[in-house]
Amino acid sequence: MNQVDYLRISLIDRCNFRCQYCMPEGAELDYILKQQLLTDEELLTLIEEVFIPVGFTRFRLTGGEPLLRPRVVELVGAIASLPQTQDLSMTTNGFLLAPMAQNLYDAGLRRINISLDSLDPDTFDQIIGNHGRGRWEQVWDGIQVAHHVGFDPLKLNVVVIPGVNDGEIIDLAALTIDKQWHVRFIEFMPIGNADLFGSSGWIASEDIRQNIRQRWGLTESQVRGNGPADVFQIPGAKGTLGFISQMSECFCDRCNRMRLSADGWLRPCLLNENGQIDLKTALRHGVSTAQLREEVRVLLTIKPEINFKQRDPGNTKGVYTRTMSQIGG
Ligand code: SAM
Ligand code: SF4
Repeated sequence: MNQVDYLRISLIDRCNFRCQYCMPEGAELDYILKQQLLTDEELLTLIEEVFIPVGFTRFRLTGGEPLLRPRVVELVGAIASLPQTQDLSMTTNGFLLAPMAQNLYDAGLRRINISLDSLDPDTFDQIIGNHGRGRWEQVWDGIQVAHHVGFDPLKLNVVVIPGVNDGEIIDLAALTIDKQWHVRFIEFMPIGNADLFGSSGWIASEDIRQNIRQRWGLTESQVRGNGPADVFQIPGAKGTLGFISQMSECFCDRCNRMRLSADGWLRPCLLNENGQIDLKTALRHGVSTAQLREEVRVLLTIKPEINFKQRDPGNTKGVYTRTMSQIGG
């Protein structure tokens, strides 16, 4: 059985982008009210007194957009300084990163994933649904600053959408040739935007690899990350290419993670909420952390039976009702 020691923590469900595949413009989203968000103190209590004692040692901060969370640098510092924290990372859209990167690094963050779906500013604007000027440039600046500050590995996440950015696979992969960056191609999932998914479809990792193989060749890399990515390399490149194939290959068997939503729900699976625990309400009603530890231990024992395959049998379209920003992608 896989050891489940990795917790993805959503700090906030709101975002300053409206990516077509995640929170499309016009979609009605019920944002979590401020008073329903876990406070910093509650989050740290849960990490120290519940998650660490049951075996979680690796944490990723995500959202929504985690850099929108007030006092995020202080929060990073508090989690990073816990002696049991073996790994702390963040997934961000990078828009607010440039001025914060050094402070985040100084607070103890060492690994960062930045979403970058296109190298073309117009396509980027189209994807993120924000038509203000200079958004791509600001994200690119954030990536450069993060690189210079020393984040390592620096990973760039690309959701491949047919007809939107699939023509850029080669250009995006080429970023790994001269820099020790890790570009990760993510299969588009039927979460968030059923219409787009239905009309565009998705591209399997193997097809993306084939595209890259024809251009440069591709070798399997010895480098393995913490997560579900299969890692490859263009021969001679400094960086690597990751493929996250949740549509074409089921990796539930090697799942090592759980998710904590910004309002305190602990969920054992991205697409299956069986067994979920409302930790925030329990804490606020005075349930002891000892009792919560026991509940989480029970959830850990049943987690292997909770996976994508058994999710929501009534949902015939296969479209999940929550967006990634709400689940904490
Ligand atoms: N806002 C941050 C960002 O975009 O990096 C962190 C949160 S975002 C929900 C986390 C990841 O989920 C991003 O890499 C994003 O591309 C991915 N994501 C969102 N919706 C998706 C979908 N429908 N299919 C595949 N990946 C998706
Ligand atoms: Fe925001 Fe990230 Fe979702 Fe894009 S993928 S809308 S940046 S939460």
